[in-house]
Amino acid sequence: MEEIKKVPFTKEMKHTHTILIPTMLPIHFQILGNVLENYGYKIKVLDNFGQGVIDQGLKNVHNDTCYPAQLVIGQMMDALEHCDLPLDKVALLITQTGGGCRASNYIYLLRKALNKSGYGDIPVISASFMKSEQSGGFSLPVTMLLQAVYGVLCGDLIMTLYNQCIPYEKNAGESQKAVDDSVKMAEKLFCKKLLRWKEVSALMEKIILRFNRVERRKEEKIKVGVVGEIYVKYSPLGNNNLEEFLLSEGCEVVCPGLFDFLLYCTHNAEFDYELYGINKVKAAVMHKVNRFLRGRKSDMIRLIEKNSDFQPPCHFESTIESTKGYIGKGVKMGEGWLLTAEMVELIQHYKVNNIVCTQPFGCLPNHICGKGVMRVIKEKNPQANIVAVDYDSSASKVNQQNRIKLMLANARLMDSQQGMASQESSQEKAKQPAAAL
Ligand code: SF4
Repeated sequence: MEEIKKVPFTKEMKHTHTILIPTMLPIHFQILGNVLENYGYKIKVLDNFGQGVIDQGLKNVHNDTCYPAQLVIGQMMDALEHCDLPLDKVALLITQTGGGCRASNYIYLLRKALNKSGYGDIPVISASFMKSEQSGGFSLPVTMLLQAVYGVLCGDLIMTLYNQCIPYEKNAGESQKAVDDSVKMAEKLFCKKLLRWKEVSALMEKIILRFNRVERRKEEKIKVGVVGEIYVKYSPLGNNNLEEFLLSEGCEVVCPGLFDFLLYCTHNAEFDYELYGINKVKAAVMHKVNRFLRGRKSDMIRLIEKNSDFQPPCHFESTIESTKGYIGKGVKMGEGWLLTAEMVELIQHYKVNNIVCTQPFGCLPNHICGKGVMRVIKEKNPQANIVAVDYDSSASKVNQQNRIKLMLANARLMDSQQGMASQESSQEKAKQPAAAL
């Protein structure tokens, strides 16, 4: 069996090496990169996209492997091929979810790819909340973790407000300007090593007020929810610029935030104890962490409600509630029950009936929690208009867009039928007093 080199990231490397990080959510990763820099690491968040990345993924990862793995590893291999830094001063960072899904094992695939391509001496860091693999000189102290968590929440806030501004902006580019200003404000605050929630909450208020200044047209657009496997849901590289496409079709995108995934993971640890009686101590710790995180999200919701007319996200309690009658909480591989909950929540809480469920081709967990529950969702919510779209290197972009266009045609038809029905009922009502006379 071929031996795969495993080069550790040492403490000394913290001062000499630049860490390359693959991108998933551009806004969030910019803030998170800043948090790491603040703790002394040299960071480069990768921004190489396009066919070159996909080709590198196909060349270096078996095509049976999850599409997100191909893209993440492809992006890093492509970056190494075109790197303007000395390769002996570069390290790579990859996340390990620590769950039972294949995402925990991307790191081994990356090392294999590096070894095969002659980059075996490059150290690879595992970033994991679950401590799947120790990475010597790279550590996640609690203060840094806390900053990262706040960074994710700020990223969600910016993304949510941007999505509600961009389709309606009166002056082109204003929403993007609000994003840039907000990220700058966040970067400035996240330069501090110790952050108090009061400061983060003041920053959030400023972000909301900044977006309030974006002039918006008052018009109705078709709202489309985007859910699915975490990478293809968020990454423009993974979903063929889905958000851009939906905007070009005249829609408003509604996308649940990344913070919910943290809440989901911590809640699952609690639930493991409830269900199987395992890891009592971990469950007790995660219970506290989860309640703390829920509290921060609720604070953010209150800030949005108090300072603007933007629609805030749901409280996590309501997300958990949404699973009832649809899926058990023991289903927790990949996005698990959270994916189902997000679809139900979009329909029932946000009144968004049109949903694109993004799925990497061959992703078993998402086929169960996405496609697998669509029938029951449609039975209980007949107005639901959901389309599942597979993403893969060989999937045709035209086919994907055609499926989405068909879903949008249904949405427009349902809208016009509803409009006609409400017109008829108001005409009926107008006639009634005359008939009574
Ligand atoms: S959720 Fe799907 S795509 Fe993601 S690691 Fe698991 S199997 Fe692969």
